[in-house]
Amino acid sequence: MKKNDLVKVQIEDMGVGGEGIGKVDGFTLFIKDAVIGDMVEARIMKVKKNYGYARLIKVCRPSQHRMEPVCPYARKCGGCQLQELSYEKQLEFKENKVRGNLLHIGGVPDELLSRAMEPIAGMKYGFRYRNKAQFPVGVDKEGKLMTGFYAGRTHSIISNTDCAVGVPVNKEIRECILDFMEEYGIRAYNEEQHNGLVRHILTRCGFRTKEIMVCLVINGETLPYSEVLAERLSQIRGMTSITVSVNKEKTNVIMGPQIRPVWGQTYITDFIGDVKYQISPLSFYQVNPVQTEQLYGVALEYAGLTGQETVWDLYCGIGTISLFLARRAKWVYGVEIVPQAIHDARENARINGIKNAEFYTGRAEDVLPEYYRRYEKEHPGEKAYADVIVVDPPRKGCDETLLRTMADMRPERIVYVSCDSATMARDVKYLREEGYEVERVRAVDMFPQTVSVETVVMLSHKKPDSVINVKVEFGEGEGKVPLDNIAKRAAAYKPKERVTYKMIKEYIEAKYGFKVHTAYIAEVKRELGLPMYDASNAEEELKQLRKHPTAEKAEAIKDALKHFEVI
Ligand code: SAH
Repeated sequence: MKKNDLVKVQIEDMGVGGEGIGKVDGFTLFIKDAVIGDMVEARIMKVKKNYGYARLIKVCRPSQHRMEPVCPYARKCGGCQLQELSYEKQLEFKENKVRGNLLHIGGVPDELLSRAMEPIAGMKYGFRYRNKAQFPVGVDKEGKLMTGFYAGRTHSIISNTDCAVGVPVNKEIRECILDFMEEYGIRAYNEEQHNGLVRHILTRCGFRTKEIMVCLVINGETLPYSEVLAERLSQIRGMTSITVSVNKEKTNVIMGPQIRPVWGQTYITDFIGDVKYQISPLSFYQVNPVQTEQLYGVALEYAGLTGQETVWDLYCGIGTISLFLARRAKWVYGVEIVPQAIHDARENARINGIKNAEFYTGRAEDVLPEYYRRYEKEHPGEKAYADVIVVDPPRKGCDETLLRTMADMRPERIVYVSCDSATMARDVKYLREEGYEVERVRAVDMFPQTVSVETVVMLSHKKPDSVINVKVEFGEGEGKVPLDNIAKRAAAYKPKERVTYKMIKEYIEAKYGFKVHTAYIAEVKRELGLPMYDASNAEEELKQLRKHPTAEKAEAIKDALKHFEVI
């Protein structure tokens, strides 16, 4: 197999990026735009030791799952990867992706996944769903202004004003802006030379309200003749907010730090369910409103609220999930890093008359540990107040400090909402090692035609293996338990700090300067007859690795167990 060879390949699988995978003489090939079930002709482009990449030349026999793409730029554009695959198969692909990550990265046993995974929530119509778009502005070879999307893995713009997954009104907005720029000689930004003015056009559209927001990202302090543009754009039905964002940095980050009003408000409003939200250009807001209702519905169901719970919503954005939860909880704390989003969150609580939600600006991995430390100091020995913790982090997942604190706070349930199931699975692995187990999993297709998928996982705190049910009658008299005794005992009861494998490891590393494997700790605990339920996988690891600690390590582990008063 060498570069430029022409080969015939039967596509049997799909890679995480949506590419078709097939084999030629036992050699694996990745072929972009080939669909599972296709028989294709492809040209080898790159050869590695055990696999290679090939370019699709011709579909010899199309798969039964192959679709005619709706958008003529589907192959070139970096936005969609799966337009040529039937929607049913797209959903199957996403479900498999989530399951595979939880299995391989999360270490969740197969049979548990079979029980926990619920069917993916798909859409009826997987186009025209996006309520937000950020279009780069540039010029074509003839120097004519254009907007579109970046071609896959590049920064070259494909001119297209009518994206098939975006709202139709985007076309009118973009044509209006390009005409205006042409007429008034306003230049597009040139990334390489770092000159020119208009970098990006951001649009947002309220799903229920139909309110429209336009924000121009500019490489300068002001947009000349902005009143003319405002006058024209404001003719578009629903136009509510026109702003500019100043971004003079040489950076891939799209938005600048500040928003300046040009016309109308600086935000739009929308509803998810019956909760009303105010959305600023800089705030995160889910891009698929139809599926967001599904997603939040799943998160709410998994949170299992009865009205008595204290809930943390970490990475809360403009408080979308927090306010959904607040209706069914005693108290909700929201934490978010973007100050403007917290401002919106508070405002959103106010306009919905929600009084049991409180919001903090800061990094989740700073705010929660800080709260926990303070709480422990003021209420020594008491369980820090968190019945349910919801997290919805960006793609990189949660910081370990945060996971550590979450595990220490021991909420009943953790609801993990994620747009990247690989980092989520990594975090799930951590939480499983710290005494949590996966109970329910549901993928929600927020991004039809693309390889991205949103997932909600509910983990609950593992209880000791056996529970003994004892019937008691309360009150006075023989065989009955006096109520005030129970109250006294409850007051005297101070739960001990839960000792985790991680704490033991850290203690040993700090004191002895070496690392010990979880399996070693489990082995020593087993020898001592201690319960093992707080790390189910330790037993698994033991089986596989058959690790026996050296005498020195065994002593160190026993020392740590004494230190933490486990023995
Ligand atoms: N739950 C919200 C937002 C989820 S997106 C919703 O559904 O609308 C993730 C959010 O996390 C973004 O608003 C982002 O600004 C915020 N964020 C990113 N890093 C963070 C951190 N370290 N701590 C807190 N929030 C963070």
